[in-house]
Amino acid sequence: MNYRHAFHAGNHADVFKHLVLTRLIALMSRKEQPFAYLDTHAGIGLYDLKGDQASRTGEYLEGIARLWDTPDLPLLAADYMQVLHEMNPDGQLRYYPGSPELARRLTRPQDRVLLNEKHPEDGRLLKDNMKGDRRVAVHLGEGWHVPRALLPVPEKRAVMLIDPPFEQLDELKRCSQALKEAIGRMRQTAAAIWYPIKDQRQLTRFYQELTSTGAPKLLRVELLVHPLETPQSLNGSGLAIANPPWGLEEELRELLPWLAEKLGQTKGGWRMDWLIAE
Ligand code: SAM
Repeated sequence: MNYRHAFHAGNHADVFKHLVLTRLIALMSRKEQPFAYLDTHAGIGLYDLKGDQASRTGEYLEGIARLWDTPDLPLLAADYMQVLHEMNPDGQLRYYPGSPELARRLTRPQDRVLLNEKHPEDGRLLKDNMKGDRRVAVHLGEGWHVPRALLPVPEKRAVMLIDPPFEQLDELKRCSQALKEAIGRMRQTAAAIWYPIKDQRQLTRFYQELTSTGAPKLLRVELLVHPLETPQSLNGSGLAIANPPWGLEEELRELLPWLAEKLGQTKGGWRMDWLIAE
């Protein structure tokens, strides 16, 4: 396990994933009943963009730095940017929330946040960063075991993020297997898989695997910062979202053109369609 998310924190893929996650949480919160947030590959929870790792790559400069202080912020980005401003009260962009911190801050007192991270050092940092909030539980186990270990949840409502590092070739396949398992154990889980857009052949197979997961509905959302076939580069990223809450598709249709324009590098773009329609 060599991957450390701190090198990539706040890059275009993080901004896309986290912005969509904030909308998922907001829409799930429309009903009073509690829900559980589950993160299979949680990372450390918060990141110092001026720290050694993030500043060595500077990836955040083409990500969150492009949104910071932007005058034309759409309303749908307000929750996300509010967390950022709370974390950086002096107006200088320095600290960036990972998915655990966004979930912790945006969920309600009745909700629970269940996090899993396998890397021992990152797990310790995550525990440290989450301490003091009794709604949060941190597990230091195998991310691929999360669906069978934690689903179904007693709340009967769940948002799950599946966000592995893609260090190994089989991880796309493991994502669709994890989704299938999650749906098998709790059919209504709103589960989002994040994936990199690099190799179109691998992705074609992945899309096929996703369609046989048994998810009742599956939305595919992608944000590009380079043209699709640019070699050797992360051309963008996608989220496959099972059981998206009502309203998410419309919200993303409004948000994504703005985001593609903000984050596009050689060429920004986006697309959204249903891999499994109702
Ligand atoms: N979800 C985080 C966020 O959005 O802030 C970022 C997660 S990062 C892309 C992937 C994380 O998975 C890394 O922190 C890595 O240590 C961890 N990891 C790698 N293999 C794992 C496994 N088999 N089970 C659980 N975690 C794993």
